[in-house]
Amino acid sequence: MRYISTRGNAPAKTFTEILLGGLAPDGGLYLPEQYPQVTRAELDAWRKLSYAELAFEVLSKFATDIPADDLRAIISKTYTSEVYGNGRADSDSTQITPLRTLADNVHILELSNGPTLAFKDMAMQLLGNLFEYALDKQHAELNILGATSGDTGSAAEYAMRGKRGIRVFMLSPNGKMSGFQRAQMYSLQDPNIFNIAINGMFDDAQDMVKAVSNDHAFKARYKIGTVNSINWARVSAQIVYYFKGYFAATQSNDEQVAFSVPSGNFGNICAGHIARMMGLPVGQLILATNENDVLDEFFRTGVYRPRDTGHTYETSSPSMDISKASNFERFMFDLVGRDGAKVREFWSKVDAGGAFDIKDTAYWHALATFDFASGKSTHRDRLKTIRELWEEYGVMIDPHTADGLKVGLEQRRPSLPLICLETALPAKFEETIREALGREPERPEALAGIENLTQRCEVMDADVTRLKSYIAEHAPQ
Ligand SMILES: *Cc1c(COP(=O)(O)O)cnc(C)c1O
Repeated sequence: MRYISTRGNAPAKTFTEILLGGLAPDGGLYLPEQYPQVTRAELDAWRKLSYAELAFEVLSKFATDIPADDLRAIISKTYTSEVYGNGRADSDSTQITPLRTLADNVHILELSNGPTLAFKDMAMQLLGNLFEYALDKQHAELNILGATSGDTGSAAEYAMRGKRGIRVFMLSPNGKMSGFQRAQMYSLQDPNIFNIAINGMFDDAQDMVKAVSNDHAFKARYKIGTVNSINWARVSAQIVYYFKGYFAATQSNDEQVAFSVPSGNFGNICAGHIARMMGLPVGQLILATNENDVLDEFFRTGVYRPRDTGHTYETSSPSMDISKASNFERFMFDLVGRDGAKVREFWSKVDAGGAFDIKDTAYWHALATFDFASGKSTHRDRLKTIRELWEEYGVMIDPHTADGLKVGLEQRRPSLPLICLETALPAKFEETIREALGREPERPEALAGIENLTQRCEVMDADVTRLKSYIAEHAPQ
């Protein structure tokens, strides 16, 4: 299996060649040359598999340049009930992603029982083990540099802690994260994890990361890499739970389902799109946004109009507060019939701060054949959904999952069972839960009192020179 760029102007590469890199050299994102197809006989056989076995079957179609025994070993140490047993006390952690049935044909797929209580652990834990494996083989090292406003940074740190050959330098806005989020990250004492609290906002931290990455000499000298959501290995790991969720919610492979997905960067739902392209019987894919509705606008009107970062609303589902959906380019590449020149044309507008519109083109009709639906959910909707679910079923959900459920119930065709992806646990978002329910969310036992642990972090002004010398000091060449 080889990987090509969505902008059509980069040489094809293998899975391990793109594992540690970011964008393709032409500015595009990598995708498989063709999507591997899953036969009916395979689907029938896969229905009975454990999560780790299923992950091996799916991922061995993509990571064809990793020897099967190595891949199997990496996967079986990743998807264990120890790693994914940190969440709800009444969840069956042997399932890794247990399905919780709320009502006839309405389900929640629990993806948030990993170490940081958000679905990003599903892919990031695998990435940590894949990175360690690849770096070991190449006798190489990697210094991961990132900026976070919460979920991504902690998922990356818990995936990379204690890994050979890897250091993590994670920037976060000083004093802007919740006490729980701070404690999760800053209490890590592993010598390869460096938390840096920037006196500024998330955007300042993000700008510092960009500035360092644009210094190509420094980047090469200190082997700087990233783990952001365009990483292909992350997307491919997310494909697995669409299969798992489908098997859990259906009796036979003749049935169809709808998935609803709380969306930000379009990474999660992109994996759903690919699962369907491989042959998984998915009827609808339902995209849910919060007040930051760039993607909902596209699926309703055909106009993709990213906002300036200054025009991103701060909402109570903060992990969906995005102004540009970085993985959306992957879907557009398929929508335009894999015409890299067309993608280049669209993104020359986007990269210049503009928009594109497919309404009066053949692509608008093509879009209908992909069977997406979309909708948006506001702060008031979140509170209402959290409250209704708690009162009716005694199930507490987080604000992002509430966005997904609200839009899913609104948009699904009634003939299809609905599987809403749970992207975080309510324990991460205490303030909104208190506002909705007047009580504290349940917190997994292992995380009780996490705020009282000793914290370790470097506080720094938003000064790129200072950041570079900090990296140079702590990442010996
Ligand atoms: C990252 C995140 C999302 C958005 O996922 P995308 O893959 O960016 O669409 C939604 N909910 C939570 C809790 C997240 O952490």
